[in-house]
Amino acid sequence: MTSLPLRVDVLVRGAGPVGCALALALRRSGLRVALADSASPPPVFRPLALSYASRLILERLGAWADLPVTAIERIVVSQAGAFGRTRLDAADAGVPALGYVADYSALLGRLKAALGDLPSSTVGEARCIVHAEGAPQELEGKRYAQDALVALLHTEPPSAATAFERFTAGGPLALLPFAGRHALIWSMRPARARELVVADERQFLAELAAAAGSTVGRPIKVEHRTVQALALKVRSTRVAGNEVYIGNAAQTLHPVAGQGLNLGLRDAWDLARVLAAAPDPGAAATLARFAAQRRLDAGATIRITDFLAGGFAGTNPLLRAARGAALTALDIFPAPRRFFARRMIFGASALP
Ligand SMILES: Cc1cc2nc3c(=O)[nH]c(=O)nc-3n(C[C@H](O)[C@H](O)[C@H](O)COP(=O)(O)OP(=O)(O)OC[C@H]3O[C@@H](n4cnc5c(N)ncnc54)[C@H](O)[C@@H]3O)c2cc1C
Repeated sequence: MTSLPLRVDVLVRGAGPVGCALALALRRSGLRVALADSASPPPVFRPLALSYASRLILERLGAWADLPVTAIERIVVSQAGAFGRTRLDAADAGVPALGYVADYSALLGRLKAALGDLPSSTVGEARCIVHAEGAPQELEGKRYAQDALVALLHTEPPSAATAFERFTAGGPLALLPFAGRHALIWSMRPARARELVVADERQFLAELAAAAGSTVGRPIKVEHRTVQALALKVRSTRVAGNEVYIGNAAQTLHPVAGQGLNLGLRDAWDLARVLAAAPDPGAAATLARFAAQRRLDAGATIRITDFLAGGFAGTNPLLRAARGAALTALDIFPAPRRFFARRMIFGASALP
């Protein structure tokens, strides 16, 4: 990396996937862009379900080819110990795949390779400063009563192209197909997560089999177990002076619906288009336009995710019956299923 010129147009703080995506999207804008990172180590294993819209963005950024991904052609949503189940197929949404599972480090590696050498520094004058530093430490937000246990699971038979989302009394459990294995994201009480992350492998597999039911096959081996604390952190305003917040720095979500990065990539894409078209990238009117453009998509995604994280947990029999009815209705009526699938894929604003 070379040292920062005295003055740049856009300084992006945070070279995670969202910051890198923004820097890439600004490549041909003519704006002078710098990228600064504190170089914290990436997660050991974090599966990311990328939506079809994210694929389109990454293709346009030149970071999709060669990225190892597993396509999700079907999502089966169910609840443990109660009726109600729905299936979303790629055909429902009119797309070739509902999403693609990639590993965080692999995606970041591809984005950085596509970026090549960019000016970098933490100091310097910038007309516009973009915050993409990830979840803000200083914001307490709403701490969920759950942590996520993340792991890589081997099953018999191996995974194919179906993702499973199961709502259990303790919290949602997601199993995503990942190169013949399943990526597990299992939300549960923090004390239980601390127990299970270090539990003997046989005990872990038995408890997982009990929670996951029979749909996914027989779990035979587990690797890379980690625990992630879960909180909803939403900044009340995205813009302050010539500074603007995107990705997890603007909104950190529960991973239940796999929407955080997908939303962050849409932030980066929209911001790049607004900045590239503006006479002054740091002007109040420019950044206000961006904030207004993102309000609907971000607000709706935050609300849906928060509802799924809270509303689908618990054992209240009335709630369980309502959930069962909702899932059954989605399964029977193609129109709402198509709407739901497209909403989760494209966000409130469909991509051009
Ligand atoms: C268990 C789990 C599963 C998930 N699954 C999905 C999923 O399936 N689909 C999905 O879309 N999303 C998912 N997410 C969310 C997704 O990981 C985040 O939304 C995404 O990583 C946000 O990207 P980001 O670039 O905004 O922030 P980050 O990935 O947090 O990157 C922030 C970057 O900023 C740098 N940094 C930090 N502080 C500073 C500083 N002071 N100065 C400069 N640089 C700094 C860091 O080193 C890092 O490189 C999941 C999250 C979790 C926890």
